[in-house]
Amino acid sequence: MRQSNCAVCNPQEITVLHPSAPNSLSIAPLSAEFTDRSTETAYHAYHRERTRVQLASTLLFCSLYFLGFFATDLAALGMVADAALLLGARLLVAVTAGSCAWLAWRSPLSTGAAWRAATVAEAVALACFMFIAFHRPGEFHWHAMSLGVMLLVIYLYIPNRFAHALGIAAAATAGFLALTLAHADMGFADLLTMGMLLALVNTFGALAARRYHIVAREEYRAQRVLQHAAERDYLSGCYNRRYLHERLMGAGSHQAGPVAVILCDIDNFKQVNDTHGHAAGDAVLLQLSKLLQAVAREGHDSVVRYGGEEFLLVLPATGLDAAVHLAEWLRARFGATPIDTGAEGTSVFATASFGVASGADASLAILIDAADKLMYAAKRNGRDRVEALALHAHGMAAAA
Ligand code: GH3
Ligand code: MG
Ligand code: MG
Repeated sequence: MRQSNCAVCNPQEITVLHPSAPNSLSIAPLSAEFTDRSTETAYHAYHRERTRVQLASTLLFCSLYFLGFFATDLAALGMVADAALLLGARLLVAVTAGSCAWLAWRSPLSTGAAWRAATVAEAVALACFMFIAFHRPGEFHWHAMSLGVMLLVIYLYIPNRFAHALGIAAAATAGFLALTLAHADMGFADLLTMGMLLALVNTFGALAARRYHIVAREEYRAQRVLQHAAERDYLSGCYNRRYLHERLMGAGSHQAGPVAVILCDIDNFKQVNDTHGHAAGDAVLLQLSKLLQAVAREGHDSVVRYGGEEFLLVLPATGLDAAVHLAEWLRARFGATPIDTGAEGTSVFATASFGVASGADASLAILIDAADKLMYAAKRNGRDRVEALALHAHGMAAAA
């Protein structure tokens, strides 16, 4: 049923909602994320399945590679006591990466959980890598190459926030260089080359990762903008008929429980246009659409521009009484609000007629048809009024 904290009960708190308007889609150049947190959250929710699969498959590869390193170390060193710690470190990375991959594969991870799994696997892998480097001080050239590959995997293949990947990679590079200075038996020229190589990997890894994050968000933004244009009316920002027919009335869109619809039509609207001009008419249309969008529960109700000056409000989980109460409030509020026409000092008043139909079993098409007839009854009965009816299945009237 309708929540008690809706705008109808607290008209002062009305704010206009354009929930899907692509007006908060700018991307911060440094963090490579949407500046608006809710857009960023929606972006991750949209990519959650892709992120899960990418995380699972990358960590599985990492696990297999470390098992491979374990096998080659075992072949080179044999099962001697000295090798046990190194082999254990290889195995620990393989098991951690494998466990995180399995977790990601098994369960629908939240975005935060995917990031945490990625960070844990990366931290364990890098800690073990440092441990191995520390115990093999004669092979620092090889270690530097391995670290370069690991950094690229962290930047580009394991899904994480760009800032997290950058922080982990930079910390690992600094730690490795400190270890090299303290333990490696290397000349200055070799040290410099190694430092430059790692700086290069970090620079290009970070640039490529940032580019990837931005391009993926640009793609999401383009899709949101196109979807908005395809589903919304340009003037009012309300949903259009395509959205009504494809999304609200299309296959698989049946709602369980009571549904109410309110169809409203501005009274004598042609006169507003003829007397004050089309810009004034547009202002009147906008005023009604803003009111309707303000009372619509976000993610729940839908406001559709049904025709030129006709709007439809679809209210799931709403009975007749609540819908009539809402329509009466809209009628009174719309009729009492002076509308600025844009011409200096000129404001107009307008009224609208409302048809309200509700039913638990009736289809949306039947409810809209009934609301349309009721709206015309309101016109015949004098305009600026609400007519309502509850329906059984197949459009039979239950109460007037
Ligand atoms: P009634 O009370 O019976 O509904 O009379 P009405 O004048 O409101 O209805 P009618 O159907 O005669 O006129 C509707 C008008 O709405 C005609 C059309 O020019 C105008 N209209 C439709 N879309 C727009 C729009 O986007 N902007 C403006 N300014 N006018 C529009
Ligand atoms: Mg009209
Ligand atoms: Mg009309």
